[in-house]
Parts: sequence; structure tokens; C-alpha cells
Amino acid sequence: MKHLKQLILLLLIIFSLTGCYSSVSENPMNDVIPDDTVSQEVQPTEDTEEISSSEPEVPNGSSFEIHYIDVGQADAALVVCDGNYMLIDGGNPEDSSLIYSYLTKQNVEKLHTIVCSHAHDDHVGGLPAAVYNFKFENVYAPERENDIDAYNSFKNKVIEKGITIKNPKPGDSFDFGSSTVEFYGPVYDTTDLNNTSIVLKITYGETSFMFTGDAEREEEQDILNKNFDLSATVLKVGHHGGATSTTYPFLHEVMPKYAVISVGKNNQYHHPTEDVLSRLRDADVTVYRTDLNGDIIAKSDGKNVTFTTKKNEQPTVVTPTPNNYNSQGSYIGNKKSKKFHYPTCHSLPAEHNQVIFSSREEAISQGFSSCGNCHP
Ligand SMILES: [Zn+2]
Ligand SMILES: [Zn+2]
Repeated sequence: MKHLKQLILLLLIIFSLTGCYSSVSENPMNDVIPDDTVSQEVQPTEDTEEISSSEPEVPNGSSFEIHYIDVGQADAALVVCDGNYMLIDGGNPEDSSLIYSYLTKQNVEKLHTIVCSHAHDDHVGGLPAAVYNFKFENVYAPERENDIDAYNSFKNKVIEKGITIKNPKPGDSFDFGSSTVEFYGPVYDTTDLNNTSIVLKITYGETSFMFTGDAEREEEQDILNKNFDLSATVLKVGHHGGATSTTYPFLHEVMPKYAVISVGKNNQYHHPTEDVLSRLRDADVTVYRTDLNGDIIAKSDGKNVTFTTKKNEQPTVVTPTPNNYNSQGSYIGNKKSKKFHYPTCHSLPAEHNQVIFSSREEAISQGFSSCGNCHP
């Protein structure tokens, strides 16, 4: 009797399961599923989700890469997507021949788009060379101009070719091959040229690349106030790593996995600043720098980004870690505040208040705690 009951129960379960699967495949929308089969009904929905997430994000045969060209203390990047070329800034005027030969080497004949992030020499400088030597279709620049030779020759040559310079508004976008370019800034015009920088993001599949020109905290805040989705896989760090750019609130919205800093070796501005490098470390960002890596090429397959650098054949993480950051193995304590710092920290105590430790352990064992700025 007991066995018979179990057998009937088993048959009922099998019957209801079979019924459930056939009803879902035949008529998923209209069938009323009995209560006790609801958990089974979840199964096909999950399968559908898996299928849709494994669909290719980008078309077959499509390609995407960005060359962050080493132009010293300046900016220049060549974006290549499905045979289309976009040049974002052109370095200093003395980089003109470098820009020309770089583009020629990449077999550029026509630029789909030229972006002048803002009218400072170290961004617009080499653009006239591109405008003189290559065909181009679209030109974006901020409304605010600058009466310097490089900007004037850039502007005049664009006009001469019968092309109108477009001033993008936040939220404007265009298709670039199978990627999309969206503008976020400048939000307002200002006499401070850095804060007129064009800020844009290029999205290719699930990967995205943010460019911020020399935008500083004021423009970053204006953009944050607009509530755009600023998340990006790679951030081209604003203003060559200057301390007044890449503020924590902006960085936390972008939340990049990688950052590229376009900066000259031993430049007079001491860029990139330790402030920005430590913010990037805090956000666990892998940093590439043109002063250390030379030309940096980021390739995307729509899901992942891989880096190739000129000076390091292997993709390298150049973010200083506590070990290589502090090569002397020394830490500086503040006798008064009982905090200890890296020797490069900006908030070191006056010399008469300093005490030197050879290890973190030594500092901690003497009752010192780590500085909140340099995080030793
Ligand atoms: Zn600038
Ligand atoms: Zn600059």
C-alpha cells in the first residue's frame, strides 16, 4: 500500500513535469501552470537569458583600437573602428610631423572625425598638420576659441575645406563604425579654456573609453550634475594627471578599470601628480603612462580591452605598489599626530617633528597609524 502510494506520487510528479515542459514549448504565454510546477517553469527563462547574453556584442569582422600617441606633455589619440579613423587632439605644434607620419603609417587617407578638445597649444598644436594632409569629414571643437597660431591655422584650414566646425552639446552622439560616441561636456562656456574641454565617451560593445581633455574639477562637477552614465572601461586622465582634475566624485562615477595618462617625461608641471596617482590607486585602476610606456595601444573585442605599449612589450601595470613605490624602504612618522607617511606624501610633518621608520611594522609597533592621503 505504501509502495503503491509512492509509485502514484512519482507518476504524478513525472506527468506534471512532462506537462509543464510541453506546455511551455507549445504555448508559453497562455498556459496556466499549476502552482506546484512553478519552480520548473523558471528553467526555460534562465536558458533564454543565457542565450541572449552570449550573443556577440559587436558585428563579426568588426575591430576597434585606440592609439594613445606619445606626444610628450600633450594629448593625441587615434581611434580606429571598422576602417574609420578619428583623431582626438594632435599634440603640440612641434608634433606636427610626428602626427603626420603616425597617421601615414596607419594607412590613414581620410579622417571620419577630428576632435579638438580645447584651444590650448598642447592639444590643437598638431591638428593643422592633419587638416592639411588628410581628407576629413567632421570636426568638433568647443565654442570657446583662442587666438594662438595653432588654433587659427587649424580653424582657417577647416573653413577653407568647406567644413563647418560643430560645437557639441551634452547628450549629442554619433555613430563611428560599430561604436557610438557620446558627448558630455563642456556643459557651460567659460574663459577658463581647460574647462571648455570636450568630454566624450566611445562605447564599443561592452567596453567604453572616456576622453576628458584638460577638464578640471569645475567641469567634472557640471557633468556629474547632468546625471549621465559616465562608467567607462578606460579613462584618459584629465589634464595630464594635474591635481585639480580626476576628482574623487568624477572618478567614482567613471570607475575605470584602466587609465591612460598622456604626459611628458620630467615635465615642468610635475604631472602626473601624486594626488591623482594615489586616487587612481585607491580606485584600483591599472595605469599606463606615455612617459613610461611610449605609444599605448588599447584593443577591444567588445568585451575585453588589452594593452600593448611601445616601451614594454608585455602589457604592464605601472601603478606603483607599496613595494616599488617606496624603494628606500623608509617611512616618515609625525611625532605629534602619530601618523606615518610615504616620503613622497604631500602632508609630511616639519623636519623637527619627523621620525624615520624602516618598515610599516616598526611604525605600527610604535603606535603610529597610516596617513589617510598616501595610504602607506
Ligand atoms: Zn589645456
Ligand atoms: Zn593639456
